[in-house]
Amino acid sequence: LVTGQLLLQLYAESNSGIILYYFISIGMLSFQLSKAGDIAGSFIDYKPFVSNPLITFSIISVMLFAIRNYFRNIIQKQKSEITVINQGVSKVLQESSFSIAQIRAERDEEGNIVSMIIEKVNNAFEATFKINLYEVQEQKADYIFNLILKGKFDINRYIYHHQKNKKAHEFHAAGIEKWFNVHVLQPDYYRFYIAFEDITRAKEKLAELEESKRRYKVLLEAIPDMFFVIDKDGTYEDFVVKESSMFKVEDANIIGSSIYEVGFPENMAGKVYACIQFCLHSNSIETIEYSMNTPNGTFMFEMRLAKLTSHSVISISRDITKRKTAEFKLEKALVKAEESDKLKSAFLANLSHEIKTPMNLITNLSRMLAETDPRGNERLELVDAISQNGKQLLNMIDNTIHLSKIETQSVELNQRFVNINQMLRDIYNKYYILLPDSKNVRLSVKLSVPNKEFGFETDPVILGEILSLLVDNAVKYTMKGEITIDYEMIRNESVKFIISDTGIGIPVEEQENIFKRFYRVPNSINSTTSGSGLGLSIVSHYIVLLGGNLEFESAIGKGSKFWFSLPFTKGKGFLSLVY
Ligand code: ADP
Repeated sequence: LVTGQLLLQLYAESNSGIILYYFISIGMLSFQLSKAGDIAGSFIDYKPFVSNPLITFSIISVMLFAIRNYFRNIIQKQKSEITVINQGVSKVLQESSFSIAQIRAERDEEGNIVSMIIEKVNNAFEATFKINLYEVQEQKADYIFNLILKGKFDINRYIYHHQKNKKAHEFHAAGIEKWFNVHVLQPDYYRFYIAFEDITRAKEKLAELEESKRRYKVLLEAIPDMFFVIDKDGTYEDFVVKESSMFKVEDANIIGSSIYEVGFPENMAGKVYACIQFCLHSNSIETIEYSMNTPNGTFMFEMRLAKLTSHSVISISRDITKRKTAEFKLEKALVKAEESDKLKSAFLANLSHEIKTPMNLITNLSRMLAETDPRGNERLELVDAISQNGKQLLNMIDNTIHLSKIETQSVELNQRFVNINQMLRDIYNKYYILLPDSKNVRLSVKLSVPNKEFGFETDPVILGEILSLLVDNAVKYTMKGEITIDYEMIRNESVKFIISDTGIGIPVEEQENIFKRFYRVPNSINSTTSGSGLGLSIVSHYIVLLGGNLEFESAIGKGSKFWFSLPFTKGKGFLSLVY
């Protein structure tokens, strides 16, 4: 009976069977006891170590019942907990934004999956794939997935991935133009959940981001500037430097370095640091200009700083070397132009005076000549004065023409053999008669190579002009003493011409000005004589054209010496003398 009771307690579904069994057992025991005629005695006589079957059975039954109920309660509780959890899980699955299908795996004896059947799908699944639960329920998963995804979907592959690394894998459903992350869950041996996470938006956003990143990259590459991201402590965080840039910076060199170490001259780094702080606090855009020495030379930069985040700024550095150089050149040119403009205005004012004076004189003298009809010396003097003024006028016009030819670079050289001694003699003759008697000046010419044939190939007109202008100046600025026209051979290679005088000389502070066009040193002679201030300018240009260079030395009150050397091209008459 006890064994029966035990089995019942273990396996009976309800308590009523157990209770019934108990009473039947008690009845049977009572019947057996009464048959033995000992039912009363068994209660009355006290026999130690002999148990009363009724009481013993009852105690055992009650104890078993208590144990059974204790475990039943525990099991009940856990079952209800599981139910709650299951309900929760299915609610979550049902309401999840992922499209989930619950799949039953049918396996053969060896455990291989032979087919997969869809048991359930959630709301999101129905909405995403526009299909109802009843259309997919108990259908083969492969067939349904291929249908709704409009393409081949290999479910086994995802189950395999899941078993291997438990990660979600991407799937592109090209047929419906969607991207999914496919998650697989396996709650038990026969069940899978396949969850489709729609990542199309994220993918599109990513593609957009990539596109915009690419666009920015192209943009940044196209802009010739260099970009640096610098944090609030002055440390480089990132940079973009063009391939074509002179600056070959490597990541390792710059990222993580400080502005005190890389990129700026020492004195600038502090300034830049202060600017970064100012920028971060005031949200303003700051501009700094600085120069930098590199192995490729000195460069000028303009740097703009703008706040990027709360703790970093972006610096945009532009190479402004070319612009600055151009500005500098422009400034210089402007100064020069202004200067030359001033000189030209002075010249024009002067020119009108210079032209008017001799013109007036010529007009008046000619009228006098006509009206008074003088004779003898008086007549000669008048004619002489008219011719002098005419020459001066011509001279002025000549110089202006020379200069304009030089300026428009239209001077043409006509090189031919020039007999130097002859040329110097002509110059001497020309100026000898021009020397006024009032001046106590001696004009001399030294012909260092006495050979009649001595000469070389050059432009005779231009050389004549050069010598005339220099001798003309010497005559004009010398009141007493000597003017010498001289030349000497330099190593059979060149001929050095020297025109020296013992005139008023040129003050040191004016010596840099005398080659400027239209410039005349303010002195007593210039204030009373005519001149254009063009002579030396023309001379120096002409000498360069002939392959030489004008040099001079002068001391105030002592005199001046001008010299230049011309190449002894196809020279004659010098070597024969050596023989
Ligand atoms: P210009 O003689 O017409 O004034 P130049 O260009 O020939 O112009 O000369 C410029 C200036 O240089 C002159 O005004 C003069 O003051 C000075 N100069 C030139 N040659 C001499 C010289 N031999 N001695 C002293 N001063 C001279």
